[in-house]
Amino acid sequence: MSFDTLGLSDKVLSAIQAAGYTQPTPIQAGAIPYVLERRDVLGLAQTGTGKTASFVLPMLTLLEKGRARARMPRTLILEPTRELAAQVEENFTRYGVNHKLNLALLIGGVSFEDQNRKLGRGVDVLIATPGRLLDHSERGKLLLQGIEILVIDEADRMLDMGFIPDIERICKLLPPTRQTLFFSATMPKEIQHLVDKFLSNPARVEVAPPSSTAENVAQSLHASRDDPKDKRAVLRELIEQAGDELTNAIIFCNRKRDVGVVMRSLERHGFSVGAIHGDMDQRTRMTMLDNFRKGNLKLLVASDVAARGLDIPAVSHVFNYDVPHSPEDYVHRIGRTGRAGRAGTAKMIVTPGDRKALDNIEKLIKKTIEWDGGSIDEMETAPRAPSRGRRSSPSKKADADSAQKSTRSRGSGSGGSATSPKGGDPTPPKSGPSSSSSPSKGSRRSSKESEPVFGESEFVPAFLLRPVRPSPPATSPSDDDGGDNGDAENSRSDDALVE
Ligand code: AMP
Repeated sequence: MSFDTLGLSDKVLSAIQAAGYTQPTPIQAGAIPYVLERRDVLGLAQTGTGKTASFVLPMLTLLEKGRARARMPRTLILEPTRELAAQVEENFTRYGVNHKLNLALLIGGVSFEDQNRKLGRGVDVLIATPGRLLDHSERGKLLLQGIEILVIDEADRMLDMGFIPDIERICKLLPPTRQTLFFSATMPKEIQHLVDKFLSNPARVEVAPPSSTAENVAQSLHASRDDPKDKRAVLRELIEQAGDELTNAIIFCNRKRDVGVVMRSLERHGFSVGAIHGDMDQRTRMTMLDNFRKGNLKLLVASDVAARGLDIPAVSHVFNYDVPHSPEDYVHRIGRTGRAGRAGTAKMIVTPGDRKALDNIEKLIKKTIEWDGGSIDEMETAPRAPSRGRRSSPSKKADADSAQKSTRSRGSGSGGSATSPKGGDPTPPKSGPSSSSSPSKGSRRSSKESEPVFGESEFVPAFLLRPVRPSPPATSPSDDDGGDNGDAENSRSDDALVE
């Protein structure tokens, strides 16, 4: 199918050609004709499916008739995050090169007055986050009675972020005759309720079951002890194992405080890394994102809220540093890779405490994700074994510490310090259950055999090798993103080991 058959205007078609698109994606082919017919649309599509253009392209066509009046925007697009709002604006700029339309972005973190001036000049397309939109409306600076088309994008994310009451308030301020385009990746009952209440006989366009994960994404699980330090070591190893196949990657954490901790840890280990989370100011987030898009940063550590819907077309890897609590988040996270038909890789670090969350994910996506290396079950039943060394930690102290502390154990698979040029145990393997099954995995021997007896050799326990530090000040740099003390402590001791 080509774009020509969908009913889009010539101006839009020539912008599509300039963007290099030859074929509409399924959500575009499904939704665009309905939007042009002025039908309400319920679009069920994951991020990365071309969903944004599925409403931007027909809106541009429809907006060619009529013009904007001061303080009365003609169309309104609601987005849950500032980044998504900015991305929709970029889409309007890209596909609207042949149009003279006024856009305004109403998002938090930027000057209220600048936004106000724009509204005064008349706006064709208003792109907003719910809170900032209501602020403007309540100050009487914005009249919503002229809205012809309302887009509610990423509705399930709006729900997660507690925006549903705001959305309901906004809908009540709009003329009932408007056209509503509603997009969500998943359809929880609260979202269905919103659809029933505010959409009129919508055309339903579903491009993939909302719980499905792309077939072209290779998914795997990687066991770790329930210890941030151990998890960070596994993460580093996964990154290094990926080698040249990793062109860039997003690393997801459940908590924003961990975003900072993980980023600093990777930075200390010499990786090219940035971070993005909800508490950063707008400018920092945009700069970070821009650097990642341009390839100046190879890794981006992110929280779910900050990363939702980021338009980064070619992410080769997604690492789940944490198993997400909500199974839908897993679908969203791994949807960042394997976009537009490319192959992608999604690896998740799983600890014994994640069993329930993992079950929920596998139930939702209706498939079992394979373990790469030992599973958490094997880890619990296996004899205590020193872990593979920290490949990215050249220091002997780190190796000693790793051999002493980690009880992680792997079965077969790609893990293991035996493959690491730098890591590994200080002593060569002798024998043992693990090494006998796989000679190349020599580092995995029973700890009893390998543990030196204190005082009988030159062995010095790792804690004695750590530099003595004065007591930390009341607030340390490791705490500045709200990291909990446990993890911040861990990150400090990591400092001591690797630097
Ligand atoms: P979205 O789902 O809107 O975030 O879009 C995902 C990515 O697909 C973006 O980088 C778009 O620029 C790109 N894209 C959108 N439509 C098409 C198309 N018809 N052909 C190729 N790429 C597209």
